[in-house]
Amino acid sequence: MTNLTGKTALVTGSTSGIGLAVAAELAKAGARIALHSLPGDENADRAVAEIMAAGAPDAQFFGADVSDVGAIQTLMTQVEAFGPVDILVNNAGVQFTAGITDMPEERWDWIIAINLSACFHTMKAVLPGMEKRGFGRVINIASVHGLVASKEKVPYVAAKHGLVGMSKVVALEYANKGDAAKGAITVNCIGPGWTETPLIEDQIRAAADKAGGDREKGVAALLSEKQPSERLTRTADLGALAAFLCSDAAQNITGVTIPVDGGWTAQ
Ligand code: NAD
Repeated sequence: MTNLTGKTALVTGSTSGIGLAVAAELAKAGARIALHSLPGDENADRAVAEIMAAGAPDAQFFGADVSDVGAIQTLMTQVEAFGPVDILVNNAGVQFTAGITDMPEERWDWIIAINLSACFHTMKAVLPGMEKRGFGRVINIASVHGLVASKEKVPYVAAKHGLVGMSKVVALEYANKGDAAKGAITVNCIGPGWTETPLIEDQIRAAADKAGGDREKGVAALLSEKQPSERLTRTADLGALAAFLCSDAAQNITGVTIPVDGGWTAQ
């Protein structure tokens, strides 16, 4: 069992879905948790209560729109005052699907800003402190779409491929930094396949509509197209993997993307 007592984790986009499950696993391992989402997120209080109940010694919510660089800088200053960030999980993400000629320019900018550029700014802010303290874990929640493509997802696939590439660069730059005895610094991505969260709700609904309004049939259709296991990834599966990547046993895993995709990217 990973022991993260004394460590502080910032998990972006952590009031729902994958981010909340990752925060819960890090809390179970004893980390203090900085929860984050858009300002005024109605799920914030419930998420803080859930994370405290999971075992976090302390948890606080920070609101910031990560499509805005100035807001990210303010966020990072506020979180550093809560606790120096030992674990950064870049999880906040958005989706919009359309073919390239129907893709609005503002959707391109929005997805690139949140799913890619925000991760550059947060990593840049926390890595010097991680180096000074000798320990750091960066986990970027990419996607199978960081490794392979699907139609009608041009900004999402571009952002996630960018995130995988950026993570490799940063992993190399920090590979021999930090302090080996303290656990050193690693930078990795997790690549989920279909995982039932609010992010894929529109896609489930569209598939359900095609299947005569039957939601289960819609989910089954999405899975059968791409995910050979025909099972959804569970948010808790991703939380458990994130906790492992924070452990001492993972001290020499860096620069990789681990798919959790039921065989999607093996095809
Ligand atoms: P979700 O919608 O439950 O979570 C997204 C989180 O990001 C929410 O807390 C939301 O408030 C936050 N967020 C969105 N825009 C923001 C902004 N501008 N500023 C601050 N916070 C913002 O969805 P999820 O599926 O849990 O997504 C989490 C991550 O997992 C995303 O990066 C997504 O691309 C990735 N992912 C999801 C799936 C899937 O099937 N659900 C598959 C692969 C990758």
